Amino acid sequence: MSITTNQQSAGPEVKLKIAVQKSGRLHDDSIRLLKECGIDISNGVNKLKSEASNFPLEVFFLRDDDIPQYVEDAVADLGFVGENVVYEKNKKVDVVEKLGFGKCRLSIAVRKGDDYTGASFLQHKRVATSYPVLLKKFLDEQNVSAEIHEISGSVEIAPGIGLAEGICDLVSSGSTLFMNGLKEVETILLSQAVLIKNQQLALAQQSLLEKLLFRIQSVKKAKNNKYVLLNAPNSNLKEIISLLPGMKSPTVLPLAQQGWSSVHSVISEDQFWDIIEKLKTAGAQGILVVPIEKMII
Ligand code: ATP
Ligand code: ZN
Repeated sequence: MSITTNQQSAGPEVKLKIAVQKSGRLHDDSIRLLKECGIDISNGVNKLKSEASNFPLEVFFLRDDDIPQYVEDAVADLGFVGENVVYEKNKKVDVVEKLGFGKCRLSIAVRKGDDYTGASFLQHKRVATSYPVLLKKFLDEQNVSAEIHEISGSVEIAPGIGLAEGICDLVSSGSTLFMNGLKEVETILLSQAVLIKNQQLALAQQSLLEKLLFRIQSVKKAKNNKYVLLNAPNSNLKEIISLLPGMKSPTVLPLAQQGWSSVHSVISEDQFWDIIEKLKTAGAQGILVVPIEKMII
């Protein structure tokens, strides 16, 4: 059951090959995103690759560090990988879409007690990192010359064991730094997972990518929005409607109770609390907020 109408329109042999992290912080969210796009992949442990049953897609499970190279070499057409890895590896790939998960920052940290007043603190000091390219770029921009010690893991212990005075590493909550007696002093990159593509995709693959991208964007939009239903007194209906953007304009239905209407609309996550408060002040009652699964506009 692998033939779908998608495949027929793009030719029976055409498939997209996508690289995702084999295990680690991006794995589950990558698979979840594909599932939310309606793509079913059997995800056996220790599998190198897997085929979707209902979309012409083959998934390769790889170490995240290797994904940009595989995409540049067209071993995979696409990849899900952190921006930090994309920019560090500096391969010839295009970033197509930010995916909204795997958010973190690449930061510089020094010992808690250090008197850090700026990047010049690092002048002629040793900085340990797994991101020598991005660190060097930052230091060059700051006209600081420091000794970069490239290490592949547990960077946060470097100051404690006397290997370096500073570190440059990925941070999300900052608790690892804190536990190691360090403080974050510079953010050099804000990162999240992105979809990358090979720069010479064939036309058929390009059109499959567009289908996938359309689905990813619908899932992302849905996540960033909520469906809101509320009861509004007709006396304040105008004001309440003016607070609600909606996809075109809000839906207004009369309630059985005289003088009241039911109003339905879509609110984006970042405006959400602000609008809800204003709605309450304007007399809205019985406000229901419902997640949206897909949003096609
Ligand atoms: P692999 O075995 O695939 O090489 P890894 O150990 O290099 O895995 P993970 O720790 O699983 O990588 O992180 C994968 C990606 O998750 C990072 O490159 C980054 O984009 C993202 N990420 C999000 N939050 C964090 C965090 N707090 N620390 C590290 N990475 C994070
Ligand atoms: Zn890695």
